[in-house]
Amino acid sequence: MVPDEALVRLEACGICGTDYEQYEGEFPSPLPLIPGHEPLGLVAEIGERAQERWGVAVGDRVAVRSRYGCGQCEACARRDYRHCPQGGGYGFTSIDKPPALWGGYAEYLYIAPASALRKMRPDIPAEIAVLFNPLGAGFAWAVNVPQTRPGDTVAILGCGQRGLCAVIAAREAGAGQILITGLARDEHKLGLARELGADVTINVEAEDAVAVVREATGGGARVVLDTTPYAPQAVTQAIAMAAPRGTVVIAGLKGQRPVPEFYSDELLHKELTLRGVWGVDEASFEQAVRLIEAQKYPLHKLHTHSFDLSEAERAIQTLAGRFPSEPAIHVAIVPHARP
Ligand SMILES: [Zn+2]
Ligand SMILES: [Zn+2]
Repeated sequence: MVPDEALVRLEACGICGTDYEQYEGEFPSPLPLIPGHEPLGLVAEIGERAQERWGVAVGDRVAVRSRYGCGQCEACARRDYRHCPQGGGYGFTSIDKPPALWGGYAEYLYIAPASALRKMRPDIPAEIAVLFNPLGAGFAWAVNVPQTRPGDTVAILGCGQRGLCAVIAAREAGAGQILITGLARDEHKLGLARELGADVTINVEAEDAVAVVREATGGGARVVLDTTPYAPQAVTQAIAMAAPRGTVVIAGLKGQRPVPEFYSDELLHKELTLRGVWGVDEASFEQAVRLIEAQKYPLHKLHTHSFDLSEAERAIQTLAGRFPSEPAIHVAIVPHARP
């Protein structure tokens, strides 16, 4: 083993909307590749210096962050591999680049020297432990980026895995009121949102979400988080439901579609902060891992499906809602999943 590298035997790999976009060809990817950017596994082999750097040894369970860096630049010196211009992503690197094992839909994953790993408790089921990805996004987008304080009102648009994880994160931050939206077919997700701590759930097909949020919060939410994919009108709604001096966080990709009826004057009148987010910072990742290890929330209710490696395509389609009789929230590839 090279001193700075490791090899991980995968226990689970989470699937998110980005996997679906990659599968559909909407997210540019250097083919051929092994997909999978939300890996969790056991250290199978590790170099001496890598052991020291990451504080892990053979047999330890590790959560692996999605990006790796070049190890040479200023961003890498801060271990901020998300912003390394020469770096890459697990699940987004061609197998033409040695040693080819760059994706989480596999039995083994190569770990490059400039990667971020964290040891995790081994006794939590792998498909639950791997929720550090959406939960990290929940902390980053609903709490740390908008600086949510105890007592704040938080409105979340969209109740997929990230929207639901944002409910948990907002509750952990002591939010005074949490509101979340979904479609009519999301009733099971909205029910779970209430169980996880949402105070108000809104079916946007039956109710005027902006009016409900304004009414319930007495004038608008201090923090509004948009997690909805391909729904550009949600940006207009998010701005309309924000309280004066509030923060609007945009996390849902809109597939390059323009926002309809966007009036920038509302940003001025209300002195809003409008913020885009991409991925998860290290502090949010850490909060997510700790919360999973604390076993404080019924996270197993978020995890609806595990699929064997051989069923990877069905796993992606299930997450994307292709099978209405099988409503999915969090889906993971679990190599050698028990039937
Ligand atoms: Zn993802
Ligand atoms: Zn770098």
